[in-house]
Amino acid sequence: MEPSLGDAALREISNAVSTLEGAIASGPITPKVTPEEIRDYLASRFDFRRPLPLDEVVGDVERMLRNWQVHVTHPRYFGLFNPSVTLASIVGDLLAAMYNPQLATWRTSPAANEVERHTLAWISSKLGLPEDSAATFTSGGAEANLSAILVALTRAFPEYRECGLAGLAARPAIYLTTETHVTFHKIAQMTGLGLRSLRTVATGSDLRMDAADLARRIAEDRKNGFAPLLVVGNAGTTAAATIDPLPELADFCRRENLWFHVDAAWGGAAAISPRLRPHLSGIERADSITCDAHKWFSVPMGAGMFFCRRRDAVLEAFRTDNAIMPAQTDGVLDPYSTSVQWSRRFIGLKLFLALAHYGESGYIEMIERQARLGDLLRDLLGRSGWEIVNSSPLPLVCFRRAGVDPAQFVATLQQKGIAWMSAVKLSNGIHAARACITSIRTTEADIEHVVSAMGRLV
Ligand SMILES: *Cc1c(COP(=O)(O)O)cnc(C)c1O
Repeated sequence: MEPSLGDAALREISNAVSTLEGAIASGPITPKVTPEEIRDYLASRFDFRRPLPLDEVVGDVERMLRNWQVHVTHPRYFGLFNPSVTLASIVGDLLAAMYNPQLATWRTSPAANEVERHTLAWISSKLGLPEDSAATFTSGGAEANLSAILVALTRAFPEYRECGLAGLAARPAIYLTTETHVTFHKIAQMTGLGLRSLRTVATGSDLRMDAADLARRIAEDRKNGFAPLLVVGNAGTTAAATIDPLPELADFCRRENLWFHVDAAWGGAAAISPRLRPHLSGIERADSITCDAHKWFSVPMGAGMFFCRRRDAVLEAFRTDNAIMPAQTDGVLDPYSTSVQWSRRFIGLKLFLALAHYGESGYIEMIERQARLGDLLRDLLGRSGWEIVNSSPLPLVCFRRAGVDPAQFVATLQQKGIAWMSAVKLSNGIHAARACITSIRTTEADIEHVVSAMGRLV
């Protein structure tokens, strides 16, 4: 390895990081590019036959990323929850790659394992879970939700581990709403539960799970020989930031001996804000919780988190009997036998570095500022003739206006470079435009600019 080449490549990255901070706001949000254009470019430059200087390749790829992607870190990207990322978390990702610690077992990476444990314990306490809860970093919310289903299945059916679904006397059923993330559909496909194991519980006009309909469906399923397993409560849905009646669902699940999982993939970060925490009340009674660091904690993908108050059930669900791994170390849990993944990246470092650097107060300020910007957006839209069709303390606003087609409207906003928003169809049948504050770079001026630019389009 020639150190000078490495130095140049690192300088290239360091320059790109600092240039982007100043340049992103004035650049485009949505690229105009075809697959052919990118394929031709790659074919003409990278046949891998002869080696290229690293700094040159880094510069080239950096330009490709700059020109050819939706800039989710742009201050006027009001999209699906892909955040702008903090500098500390970018550095964390780089540092993790550098030492490449293997987190499958504690013994191979004591420091990294303990950094993750320390970080997860802090978040777990903010969520209100007991100290002896299990927690792991995951690739994202999808893996965390999968973990919840696997642990719940193993706990409810001790024969599941040996015999699989085929060995169960009754077919398990899972209860969710049309607002619940579709990862659960994929999980039903992947686990062998099948889509028919999913029960779509009715929602009220506020899009929240109707607890009376839940009770009715569970009674009916029990009568028909099904085995109700798990209820998914949402703490901030993807489409409309809906928070289900968590305390009521927690009561119900305890009474009915059902697993209560809360999907707080993006909304969960609100737990660290004294102002927003009360809106998540009831989450502390969940059996398991999904909360992504790569959403409202503003760290790079992929960094999800899975929390579970039933430690024994987690150990049983992921237990493996094998001879190849180093023996367990006393007093610690090896991630490979307590989670879905085997070889593991040091996922948690980016969150640890960001928490350590910005501190709890810095994080609270980031999150509450974004929530305030959401309030401002809601307020300005309401005063400019838009009808707000969702209700949430989180910074996500769904809105519509007579004579305006949401899908066409958000496409125009993208074309004109005003903002990136999406169009949604909510479970009450309403079509709306959707804007979510996901960037720590967004300012009041951005919100005011976008709302007034929108006014000129209608
Ligand atoms: C994003 C999201 C998911 C999926 O998480 P990934 O990190 O994308 O795997 C699940 N549930 C909710 C509510 C989400 O917002």
